[in-house]
Amino acid sequence: RFITFEGIDGSGKSTQSRRFAEHLQTQGADIILTREPGGSPGAEEIRQLVLTGDPERWSAETEILLFTAARRDHLEKTIQPALAAGKTVICDRFADSTRVYQGATRGDLRMMVDQLHSLMIEREPDLTFIIDMDPAIALERGLARKSGEDRFEDFGLSFQETLRHGFLALAHADPKRCVLIDGNRTPDQIASEIAAYA
Ligand code: C5P
Repeated sequence: RFITFEGIDGSGKSTQSRRFAEHLQTQGADIILTREPGGSPGAEEIRQLVLTGDPERWSAETEILLFTAARRDHLEKTIQPALAAGKTVICDRFADSTRVYQGATRGDLRMMVDQLHSLMIEREPDLTFIIDMDPAIALERGLARKSGEDRFEDFGLSFQETLRHGFLALAHADPKRCVLIDGNRTPDQIASEIAAYA
């Protein structure tokens, strides 16, 4: 199975993807926990190219090509081989992040993202947890652990609101794949709700 976690920065998706992986492991499942952008050596190099440096370095179009190149490498080198070996793959962010982040940055790019995905990224997750939460709280959490690693950390509250609505729209558009999780609760409460999908 291929399972992804999505949500705005500070929504707790990294914690929850790790906890779900640990939970499945205790049940004896063979798990690969991975993340995007990154998740394979080549994609981690592209992550550095995209997330660091001068914000004007790449145009929005080039940025989408880089995210797609990273995702393609991650699929080829990490995700597909693990699935073929019968493992469960849990990924912190995947294609939905690009749909939402780049679509939110410039609405007219959404079609480009979809076209590139249909050409290059043939695999959709079997199950996606979209962790929804109040952007003000998410932003506070995000700033509290601000690493300085990436230039996207400076997004303000109104952009986070736009992203939140982008994720909600995706959840409503694809209810068979996407499960909306209320992230405004304790990590334990959220983890136990998610554990029911093991
Ligand atoms: O989830 P993580 O913090 O590792 O993501 C790194 C950064 O990349 C985030 O700040 C996120 O806002 C940004 N991002 C993006 N577009 C994507 C995926 C991530 O802008 N498609």
